[in-house]
Amino acid sequence: MILNPVQIAGIGMTSQRTRDRMRDRLREQGIANESVLSTMARVPRHLFVDEAMATRAYEDSALPIGEGQTISQPFVVARMTEVLLETGPVDKVLEVGTGSGYQAAVLSQLAAQVFTVERIKNLLDKARSRFAALHYSNIQSRYSDGSWGWASHGLFDAIIVTAAPSSVPAPLLEQLSIGGRMIVPVGSQQHNQVLTVVTRTTTGFEEQKLNGVKFVPFLSGKS
Ligand code: SAH
Repeated sequence: MILNPVQIAGIGMTSQRTRDRMRDRLREQGIANESVLSTMARVPRHLFVDEAMATRAYEDSALPIGEGQTISQPFVVARMTEVLLETGPVDKVLEVGTGSGYQAAVLSQLAAQVFTVERIKNLLDKARSRFAALHYSNIQSRYSDGSWGWASHGLFDAIIVTAAPSSVPAPLLEQLSIGGRMIVPVGSQQHNQVLTVVTRTTTGFEEQKLNGVKFVPFLSGKS
């Protein structure tokens, strides 16, 4: 994928003005972290969805990205990112569920190193070409079942899971550094998923439940 500056900047419904309006809406909805807000006003979300969907990229909704998967709505991306950064700067972050690559792109502007894993090859290939075209060079990605995390690059200060498991896979807990935080939607079905923050302490794990959410299911194996 080769993108010219006009495509990256966008025009009309994909322009900087539209991104700024999305940022203002996020602020009104309660997102307070200014770094998160300015990052989301910068990252060209319209390039993370298919061209036919580009003019809807800055609406506050999840959108289909193929393979039955979705790019999360901007508010959810902003909120999960804000929660990860709440306790201070993040050096290494692991994302499970690359999808379109948008969440990883946002994280790449706010953390030193981003590691992201995806179980659907076709989605990962598209996300990788976006990272390259947009020069997000601090993102490393891997085609694998994220249940296993990415041990060779751990421990991680932060882990974000963007698909919903019925319970948190143990390897992900083990790859969290002490003081590190994981944000994960937990629940076996869409109607009972709860956004959950797990913090690793010197003695174990603390769990905090936030609000109800609707994510695609966390599936095992590669596809
Ligand atoms: N963060 C993404 C959201 C994508 S939807 C974005 O910004 O676009 C969630 C993604 O999680 C899907 O692409 C799905 O294939 C992936 N997924 C589900 N279970 C997984 C697993 N066990 N390992 C890795 N990826 C998984």
